[in-house]
Amino acid sequence: MLVVPLLFRLPWFRRFDGYSAWQTILLREPPEHAGDGLVCHELCHVWQMQHRPLRMPLSYLRFGYERNPYELEARRAVEASRTLPAAADAHLDEPPGRDAGEHVVARLPRPDEEDEGAAAHER
Ligand SMILES: [Zn+2]
Repeated sequence: MLVVPLLFRLPWFRRFDGYSAWQTILLREPPEHAGDGLVCHELCHVWQMQHRPLRMPLSYLRFGYERNPYELEARRAVEASRTLPAAADAHLDEPPGRDAGEHVVARLPRPDEEDEGAAAHER
């Protein structure tokens, strides 16, 4: 994922805030400003291009942008991600105060909640 604001001044890119090219996501702003929704949308495009490396990019020639089935799928992915418990907990309208790694760790049981962990500490 690259933050390249100058790229988005070019005529073709001006209308986008994010752009995916196979395994690369280009963003106008850092992810914490761009928002989880845009990052999710672009990650969906990366996943689409992993599975349809030619058909997906060429679909824009056939369907255009707004009604492109891959665009619609990426928008649905963003909407679906908003209903996930972890996403709902993360206050998506605000920049996250913690990264995803911390968020995952926070959901794991504490060592004193695990029987095996407690037993290991007693040795
Ligand atoms: Zn898109």
